[in-house]
Amino acid sequence: MTVHRPADLASASAADGEYRAGGTDVEERHRLGISTGPVVDLSGIDELRGLVVTDDGGVRIGAMTRLTELETLGGLMADAVRGIVPGLRAVGTVGGELLQRTRCWYFRHPNTLCLKRGGDACPAREGDHLYGVVFDTGPCVWPHPSSLAPALVATGAVAEIYGGPDRLVEDLYGDGSDPSRDHLLGPGEILVAVLVPSVDRWSHVRVEPRSASASPLVEVAAAETGGVLRVAAGGVAPAPRRLMAVEEAVAAGAGAREAAAMASEGAAALTGTAYKVPLLQAAVEEALETLA
Ligand SMILES: Cc1cc2nc3c(=O)[nH]c(=O)nc-3n(C[C@H](O)[C@H](O)[C@H](O)COP(=O)(O)OP(=O)(O)OC[C@H]3O[C@@H](n4cnc5c(N)ncnc54)[C@H](O)[C@@H]3O)c2cc1C
Ligand code: SF4
Repeated sequence: MTVHRPADLASASAADGEYRAGGTDVEERHRLGISTGPVVDLSGIDELRGLVVTDDGGVRIGAMTRLTELETLGGLMADAVRGIVPGLRAVGTVGGELLQRTRCWYFRHPNTLCLKRGGDACPAREGDHLYGVVFDTGPCVWPHPSSLAPALVATGAVAEIYGGPDRLVEDLYGDGSDPSRDHLLGPGEILVAVLVPSVDRWSHVRVEPRSASASPLVEVAAAETGGVLRVAAGGVAPAPRRLMAVEEAVAAGAGAREAAAMASEGAAALTGTAYKVPLLQAAVEEALETLA
């Protein structure tokens, strides 16, 4: 594997290859032979480091911050990554966690082609999609894997980008309808940091399958600032999903159970994922009750 080791953002942005941060996702894919080509290692770039509390009480988290370092912050960021296995938290970075490729088992099988790997069909749709989406909004039926993204979406965090405009974290992903993409950053665009505003209250709920090393089935993050609530879910859609119907129900005075029932508005579960609908509603109800 050819590895470039740029010392600054300009050289990294101009280099040819896939970025590597902690390498846990990139190296697994190269080992399996499902990704090839040169790699641009980001570990020598100082501008990607740092965890700084900002004047307004928020925090600026450099993209190369290890997930374990988020524990020093406490609060929602720490809660969001606590369920990730310790070995991955120690090596994985904030940038890599947000921009990792799908954990779909067809995508990660060396002998299977799919819409994300040059194929013309999604084998999971008719095949085994037990951990798939309940919001079937695109041809790809695997949920976005990031645990941190729903938490950042719930806070209204902003992604600082080199080589392109800064944008809300939710705009890193769009609606997930392009099956070839796991995020919308283009070539030469590098996530530099995330700017997380301070929140008054928060809660996070992670529903796991029996195997603790696997990705979660459903995750829900809720954050309230100045009386404004934002709720987002992971594990249910091709992109982290903001649950605006829940937010609106709470704003209209609904109780936790009544508002949580709105979490599945627009859902279209697959044959194998109908079980996730009540899980999502229960997770939202728990998140709202904890927040209160
Ligand atoms: C068994 C198992 C369970 C897991 N469970 C979870 C879970 O519950 N929740 C969860 O979120 N994840 C989970 N993961 C995934 C794990 O968290 C990721 O592998 C890890 O966070 C990736 O971080 P990294 O720094 O190693 O990324 P890398 O492998 O270095 O990079 C990942 C991707 O991000 C891109 N990238 C990295 N940094 C930047 C940047 N600054 N700018 C632009 N592009 C960049 C790279 O090009 C690459 O495409 C699990 C993985 C396994 C194997
Ligand atoms: S769900 Fe997505 S990643 Fe999995 S096989 Fe289908 S297109 Fe590929």
